[in-house]
Amino acid sequence: MRVVNVWIEHPVMDLNRTFTYALKDGMNASRGVRVTVPLSGQFVTGFVDSVEENDLSLEEYSEKAGYEVRYVDKVIDEEPILNAELYELGLWMGHETVSPNIACFQSMLPSKMKPRSNRKASVQEYYVRLLDETKATSEKQKAAVEILKNGDVLRSELNKAFTGITAILEKKGIAEVYSKEKEAGYSELDIREADYELTEQQKAAIKKINESDKDVILLHGLTGSGKTEVYMQLAAQKCREGRQVLILVPEISLTPQMVSRMVNRFGHSIAIYHSKLNDQQRYEQYQLVRNHQVSIVVGTRSAVFMPFDNLGLIVLDEEHDHSYKQDSSPRYHCRDVAIHRAQHHHCKVVLGSATPTLESYARAIKNVYELVELKNRIHQNLPSSHLVDMQSEMRKGNYIISSVLEKEIRKRLDNHQQSILLLNRRGYTTIMKCRKCGKVIQCPHCDIAMSYHKDENKLKCHTCGTEMSADMVCPDCGSNNWLHQGLGTQRLYETIQEKFPEARILRMDADTTRKKNGHQEILEAFEKGEADILLGTQMIAKGLDYPNVTLVGIFNADALLGRTDYRSVEVTFDLIVQASGRSGRGHSAGEVYIQAYDTHHYGIRLAARQDYKSFFQYEMEYRHVGDYPPYKYLAAISFNSRNEEKAKTMAWQRADEFRKNEQFKTLGPSQLARSFDEYKYRIVLKGANRDQLIEAVWNWYDSIQFNKQQVKIQIDIDPYVLD
Ligand code: ADP
Ligand code: ZN
Ligand code: ZN
Repeated sequence: MRVVNVWIEHPVMDLNRTFTYALKDGMNASRGVRVTVPLSGQFVTGFVDSVEENDLSLEEYSEKAGYEVRYVDKVIDEEPILNAELYELGLWMGHETVSPNIACFQSMLPSKMKPRSNRKASVQEYYVRLLDETKATSEKQKAAVEILKNGDVLRSELNKAFTGITAILEKKGIAEVYSKEKEAGYSELDIREADYELTEQQKAAIKKINESDKDVILLHGLTGSGKTEVYMQLAAQKCREGRQVLILVPEISLTPQMVSRMVNRFGHSIAIYHSKLNDQQRYEQYQLVRNHQVSIVVGTRSAVFMPFDNLGLIVLDEEHDHSYKQDSSPRYHCRDVAIHRAQHHHCKVVLGSATPTLESYARAIKNVYELVELKNRIHQNLPSSHLVDMQSEMRKGNYIISSVLEKEIRKRLDNHQQSILLLNRRGYTTIMKCRKCGKVIQCPHCDIAMSYHKDENKLKCHTCGTEMSADMVCPDCGSNNWLHQGLGTQRLYETIQEKFPEARILRMDADTTRKKNGHQEILEAFEKGEADILLGTQMIAKGLDYPNVTLVGIFNADALLGRTDYRSVEVTFDLIVQASGRSGRGHSAGEVYIQAYDTHHYGIRLAARQDYKSFFQYEMEYRHVGDYPPYKYLAAISFNSRNEEKAKTMAWQRADEFRKNEQFKTLGPSQLARSFDEYKYRIVLKGANRDQLIEAVWNWYDSIQFNKQQVKIQIDIDPYVLD
């Protein structure tokens, strides 16, 4: 008898182990193939890990195993859906992130191919094939036969030429209809040249990258220094050698120009893969790679799992971006997966950024990575930046916009140049507070203040999405005298419009971009010059390249510093530098005005000077003292439950156990803000040895069998933020 060991997702228990099932006669399975199996009264889909042969009968085997071994219901795939490399990648990722292997396999595949999916399979196309031409009688039939002699034809095409012909041909036995999976069009390598000469610094960078003996390159280049061109040159080289290239970007809708430049350069040789595609589109892009119909993939995080078999290069653009870390299980970092895959394919990984993470920069200066720099901008020098002290502006009665920034916006309007204004907070105001008793309206499901949205007259929770009418009396004292505090993009929009009634302003935040292509419409309008001012949240800070923008204004630049998270200064620095980089990219010089309450903070001061290296030195000091990455490794474990006692007890028990292990420090549990009606307790482990941390978490995880419906456990190795 043959049995298979199968990874499945258990509906109730959180487990990471295989279950054994017997194969019926005639069933064929191998590693990486999906099967349907019975479990607790239902059928579930899983991945075959291994197949074993033995001389026992099902009864004997069951007796030996100590439980009733059941039959596989159905083998889904003829060929493994994950090849050997991807299968190993899934196991490795499970280990690294301390998550069930089945969760890894699931997140590696587009949803049409995920094991749980029972949705309709891919799109089928119907073709007509010639069987017997001698049976054709009418002129029409003979004409159709002539066409079919040259090869099979799509049924819809044939019927377009001769209405209703296919049914007749079938009936008379002249031809038959068969279906096959729809394929996206095939095309040859199609690469254009750049229409400008590379700069000396770009040439030097490419040379250094090619000659380096390191597997990972950190390309540290100012915003607008020509990094994208370097990626494209390297990519073209590799494609011409017949190898595949993966270019990872943080978020496609926010970097439309990057994508259109790639498409212009690489024509039909490119596939685009991101979360806004629907299931069918994703599946098609996946198949394009699998069938070698494209050489280059530009995509977001999950594109790192595409079925390449001959990768020559991986680029991670804006490597500091937090979207590279998945925030649900398995909590992998795209960079780690990219580096792991590159090792398998013997290819290089290029990490590019103007503001690399401290982790990557530290590795580069320790010579673990090769450091390659682009020190100058292509067209202009960096914009000149000015810090504006809002404390003193407030004394002059300017609460939202300083007089200097106001004057600069006026100048741009007069000169027909464009401005970008960044405020990283949506809504109208951030807090609604009772003037009489001081109560702040909080979300009933989260311990978070509700934001006021004036255009809809609603309060919204930005964590769970709960909405309520803003027409209310104070639940504590019955007063209806409210104070609206804090600044959001809606209110900023209103203020700017009042000050400059003639200005055409576009607002871009999660509220205005909700509908499909929302981002694209706003950015296109701005690009065409249909607006003078683009105002928005961090969405507007990324790769935009508009030559007519000569002013960037940043509001509440230090707001993020108030968070307790260890990375908050780094995030603030990145945001200011990236946003500033949008100014002065064309032939006119750019300026940046940064409004802050604490203008002496090193994060703000150094960001204004675009001085990454000094920032790195300062920040490393702080990380060193606080035992934070890159000096120490972190693991965060949270226990979430609607039942506060359960979450708390479990977290405390766990923390006490972990504290016995002296290889690392155990902090907490600390209580986090409730969200989605769940209470949260979190433990943080800090240690110098990452493998030890992972092992300790695994030892515990393997030893427990807990009911995931009562307490949810979230494990995050190398958490990106800890707020
Ligand atoms: P980064 O990716 O570092 O922000 P980009 O590659 O976007 O920089 O380059 C900034 C601008 O300069 C783009 O508009 C790009 O088309 C242009 N550019 C890049 N390389 C050159 C070059 N060698 N000569 C002229 N223009 C260039
Ligand atoms: Zn009140
Ligand atoms: Zn909420």
